[in-house]
Amino acid sequence: MQRDHPLKDLNTWGVGGACRTYDLPRTAEEASESVAAALDQDLRLYVLGGGSNVLVSDEPIKAAVVHTEKLDLIKLTRSGNGESIEIEAGAGVSVKKLLALTIEERLGGLEFLTGIPGTLGGALWGNTGAGGCGFSGLIKEVSAVDWNARTIRLGEDLFEWRYRSCPVDESIVALITSCVLSLKTTPKEMIFKNIKRFAGMKKGQPLGRKTAGCVFKNPPGMSAGRLLDECGCKGMRIGGAVVSGSHANFIENDGDASSRDIYRLCELCREMVLKLHGVDLEYEIKFLGNFKKD
Ligand SMILES: Cc1cc2nc3c(=O)[nH]c(=O)nc-3n(C[C@H](O)[C@H](O)[C@H](O)COP(=O)(O)OP(=O)(O)OC[C@H]3O[C@@H](n4cnc5c(N)ncnc54)[C@H](O)[C@@H]3O)c2cc1C
Repeated sequence: MQRDHPLKDLNTWGVGGACRTYDLPRTAEEASESVAAALDQDLRLYVLGGGSNVLVSDEPIKAAVVHTEKLDLIKLTRSGNGESIEIEAGAGVSVKKLLALTIEERLGGLEFLTGIPGTLGGALWGNTGAGGCGFSGLIKEVSAVDWNARTIRLGEDLFEWRYRSCPVDESIVALITSCVLSLKTTPKEMIFKNIKRFAGMKKGQPLGRKTAGCVFKNPPGMSAGRLLDECGCKGMRIGGAVVSGSHANFIENDGDASSRDIYRLCELCREMVLKLHGVDLEYEIKFLGNFKKD
């Protein structure tokens, strides 16, 4: 365990200060020890995956951060006549690597992950998806550490799939360590066709820039990006934070943004949408540390 560990290089916005303690467990048992250590020290626990959907505060965070990057084992098991395949993957496995493996093995179902950064654990925690597709129906079991620092397993009957919401009970699960996916053999042409379709949906997103994906969730039946665009948010700037000119739901770190700049810009956009459309946008990004309005 390390103390006062900087988090700036561990998130895609490239902002933020240090956390009180930082742990990088390699096994589920080590992850449970990390959770136990946070509880023992009475520290708030934050789990960090790829850092592609979080805003980390500039001020030192009086909390324990457990980084899942090293929970990265992958095991593939064929069953029946080989058509049905189970993949057990650690929470820290990058979704890019997981997608590449499924393409290689001719397994369909995860094409929606095309162009999405981050880890399997983070993707599952936020029920990441694209074009109406996601993990629902593909995850058979989740292994986790609970809030008593015990390792537990949850079957699919315990999952609740809602738009961009954690499918496991957050009052029970502190940290996901791995999960079992069940995927079906699919013709390669079909997989590539789907990948092309999902890649097409990424057009208009500011790829190659420092962002954390969509800042706000889409309200039911509406597009947060369109609401923000109609308010004239594109191009708005506070310090080094700027609303992307290509997609109003993305905020870019234009070089030297602080997380305070990003947060103030997010809040300004939210207020504008509330004023013009009467819609109170809900954050999709998660916050590490404390953020207060001015
Ligand atoms: C360019 C770009 C494009 C994107 N496109 C999409 C998209 O199309 N669709 C979409 O839904 N998202 C998209 N995102 C957002 C983001 O990539 C996803 O939400 C991603 O799945 C987050 O994974 P992560 O590992 O980076 O999670 P992090 O950002 O590290 O964490 C996100 C949340 O999950 C929690 N968490 C992470 N790992 C665990 C774990 N093992 N156990 C418990 N909690 C955990 C964290 O505490 C935090 O609350 C995009 C982001 C970028 C930068």
